[in-house]
Amino acid sequence: MSASQSFWSVPERDGEPSFWVCMSCLGEVFYRKVPMPDCPACHGVSTYEAFSLEAIRDWGTDELIARAASAEQRAATPSPEPSSPASSLESAD
Ligand SMILES: [Zn+2]
Repeated sequence: MSASQSFWSVPERDGEPSFWVCMSCLGEVFYRKVPMPDCPACHGVSTYEAFSLEAIRDWGTDELIARAASAEQRAATPSPEPSSPASSLESAD
């Protein structure tokens, strides 16, 4: 049970979808990265294939779709801060 998961980051390429889904368990999806050395859920190696969010919405389970959406949201946040934005506004006075 390791607390931290390592990833290969996958650079964006022309025409290549940004979401990587484990084709073995279909339960893990990551945004522009793949877990290493294997899938954290089923421990499959090289089981990840790239899909667009549209494609995942087409055939994925509700859980997989939700995971994909939240993975994209987390990736869009540059540096997650433990403190809320509201508290920094208050202390700026
Ligand atoms: Zn898997």
